[in-house]
Amino acid sequence: MTDDDFIDLRSDTVTRPSDAMRDAAATAEVGDDVYRDDPTVNELERRAAEAVGTEAALFVPSGTMANQIAVRVHTDHGQELLLDRESHIYRWELAGAATLSGAQTRPVDAGARCVPTADRVRAETVTEDLHRPGTGLLALENTHNYRGGRAVPVDRIDAAAAAAHEGGVPVHLDGARVFNAAVALGVEASEIVAPVDSVTFCLSKGLGAPVGSILAGEAAFIEEARRVRKLFGGGMRQAGMIAAPGLLALESVDRLADDHANAERLAAGVDAIDGVDAAEPDTNIVVADTERAGIPASDLVAACEERGVGCVEFDTHTARFTTHRDVDAADVDTAVERVGDVIADLTA
Ligand SMILES: *Cc1c(COP(=O)(O)O)cnc(C)c1O
Repeated sequence: MTDDDFIDLRSDTVTRPSDAMRDAAATAEVGDDVYRDDPTVNELERRAAEAVGTEAALFVPSGTMANQIAVRVHTDHGQELLLDRESHIYRWELAGAATLSGAQTRPVDAGARCVPTADRVRAETVTEDLHRPGTGLLALENTHNYRGGRAVPVDRIDAAAAAAHEGGVPVHLDGARVFNAAVALGVEASEIVAPVDSVTFCLSKGLGAPVGSILAGEAAFIEEARRVRKLFGGGMRQAGMIAAPGLLALESVDRLADDHANAERLAAGVDAIDGVDAAEPDTNIVVADTERAGIPASDLVAACEERGVGCVEFDTHTARFTTHRDVDAADVDTAVERVGDVIADLTA
């Protein structure tokens, strides 16, 4: 199988920069960004803040770093971080909150709502005293990756954030795919972000930039975040080279609707395969459940790879397929056919 024939649905991070992005990188005006001398980075940070309706923004190498900087700035050493047990920060960031910020995580099961209810937030908020550490931060996620790329309605974010704020607890939103949420919900990203104190979003996923994420919030918060970025080793020099494609990425939000349509097509196709269940997606993530077929996700992923479809294991019987700019409807149809062949093979 040639590389060209491989349909890579492992993640929306696999997108390659467009020719326009490569041109923009090659011709970007640059300077030393640690000295704040890079005009392209400065422009990206201005435009990124505008895109989510915050005072300021900071360009960082990855979504993980953006989240971990937020945890560090919002919490004091030894405080608790309240979050969903299936959140990216809890599941997939290597215990960063513990190792980088000395935060104790308090995971709760937000279930299909993806965000804990206001009552749950109040109940799980810990007041500092002689024995108790105090809650330093509530972290939410939208879209919710592990729960199938769910676009969480604004009122749920609003309710949880209001409950946290009542207790004096700030709120961070892991909005790695917040523009997917905005497109799916038909709202501006700024409406989703309005109830929270800081937000992370990725330029390097469906928006197609080669590298980089944004942490956004109030100006004073971002000033402190800039120090912590340096502490974590994320101070970059002529970063305009990667910020220039990021500027183009910011302009491509509307194209995410294509990914969502392709995901719907993929889910319908996969769900029609005997023994496989795939719920209708909100955005660009399709979770295929092979429990009825008795196929472990690890076997599915390995067999799909051999047949020329990339996906990733999510849990014992679930695998994730993600649509993105570099796959079209025809690729999706081919992928569905191949997954059908794989299932037939594995159940033969
Ligand atoms: C991808 C992702 C991140 C981390 O982004 P990286 O750039 O891969 O570090 C954080 N949160 C969520 C929900 C993600 O999907």
